[in-house]
Amino acid sequence: MPEFDRKVLEVLREPLESGQITISRAARQADFPARFQLIAAMNSCPCGYLGHPSNKCRCTPDLIARYQSKISGPLLDRIDIQIEVAALSNDELAKQADGESSVAIAKRVERARHRQFARQGKCNNNLSPGELDLHCRPDGDGKQLLRTAMTRLHWSARAYHRVLKIARTIADLDQQASIMPQHVAEAIQYRRAMREQ
Ligand SMILES: [Zn+2]
Repeated sequence: MPEFDRKVLEVLREPLESGQITISRAARQADFPARFQLIAAMNSCPCGYLGHPSNKCRCTPDLIARYQSKISGPLLDRIDIQIEVAALSNDELAKQADGESSVAIAKRVERARHRQFARQGKCNNNLSPGELDLHCRPDGDGKQLLRTAMTRLHWSARAYHRVLKIARTIADLDQQASIMPQHVAEAIQYRRAMREQ
């Protein structure tokens, strides 16, 4: 992701937020639909070895900061799930994957999507702040967890709403009517990879 020009990346902010993009030229302006799913990857530093278990990163702190800051805070804020993927050891690479099959996962996703449409007539991602209050209310412990994470990780209101939607989706995948503390805890984990303070 940081290989793109910062100005180009910033243009993503509008469609990520509103699902449409406005093109303005001298005399006229037009809106185009632009609802999409953004999946992006980046290294943790220019050489790619920061945090690697055996290889040593040779980047200076200043270089790392400059590299990571190519993704602005407001853009990062609009990315719902941010996870760090550690390098695999040779042994792990050689092992056969023991996860679920894609068919089983696709069925679970379809069930979760069906639950969302039955409950609110749209995907969790498209809920307005008012609808969030109605459909994404975690219980007392979950609420406390969220409040603590919000203060410690310096979340914006936007980040808070996005984590709530992720927690709602995790609960849907778990086929639960209410958002439980473990759903909230998992959603928080997906948003602390970068810029943790
Ligand atoms: Zn490095």
